[in-house]
Amino acid sequence: MKSWFAPKARLKAVQDVNLEVAKGGVFSLIGESGSGKSTIIQTLLGFHPYSGKVYFRGAALSGSGAQKHQALRRRAQLVFQDPWASLSPYHSLQWSAEEPLRCQGKPKHIRKELLRPILDRLGISQAVMQRRPSEVSGGECQRACLARALVNRPEVLFLDEPLSALDAHIRKQVAELLIGLRREYNLTYFLVSHDLALVKKMASFVLVLYLGRVMEMARADLFFTRHKHPYSRALLSSVLTPGFWRQERVVLSNEMPSPLAPPKGCVFHTRCPSRIALCETEPPELRQISPQHFTACHLA
Ligand code: SF4
Repeated sequence: MKSWFAPKARLKAVQDVNLEVAKGGVFSLIGESGSGKSTIIQTLLGFHPYSGKVYFRGAALSGSGAQKHQALRRRAQLVFQDPWASLSPYHSLQWSAEEPLRCQGKPKHIRKELLRPILDRLGISQAVMQRRPSEVSGGECQRACLARALVNRPEVLFLDEPLSALDAHIRKQVAELLIGLRREYNLTYFLVSHDLALVKKMASFVLVLYLGRVMEMARADLFFTRHKHPYSRALLSSVLTPGFWRQERVVLSNEMPSPLAPPKGCVFHTRCPSRIALCETEPPELRQISPQHFTACHLA
């Protein structure tokens, strides 16, 4: 029988991740739910304990506790999956969008002045901004979330499944908006998404995660044309967008194992259609196979 006093299992949600994001780039994290994508961006923002270093503008974040990530947090904003849950249900969109400026003590007329050009760019009217989240569409609500994210002129946007709660036609509009905003506001994006068609459209670099380990990491054009990892192949072959995948589909057997008890050897071996005996005992190293292309597979 399990004792109440038995030590709790500790989860290492992400391991051995080493990534570098160029200013103005779109770094995309992909993988199934539970692979550690959101954990990485939350860790970068200091919401989880970690061992290792985070650098911002070439300097290691220093200090301790909540202070440590301030330099990055001040220049970064998060945009979440569910726009309705991201804004106060009791206040207007305008109130929520002005909130970062209110926190800095900016007076009302300055808040309005700073927000107006952003709302114009996002194509959201003053009338809509006076409504509460429950009174507007998903597209309007996500635009208000973007307005709030942009009002402090951040350098980095962490986009955590920013389109997945939206209808297909609104998704396309917001995707175009995100692409345009990055150029105009000179932003760097971290994009977490299951939508590989969107990733193909936006990303400059792609990192594939499985059970918290990096399976493949490559410049986006290399990833979409010359991916080497069986898991990347399975993810890409699951995209149903017409014309996206023209080869035979790869269907993975079994469920993803629990991150609390990851398989020995290659963590993907219990589902890998290409596994060999070595995969059950030896974890593959992440190796560079060409400039800006890394993969962790014994067969690559
Ligand atoms: Fe598959 Fe083996 Fe490569 Fe892992 S190392 S992805 S199990 S072939």
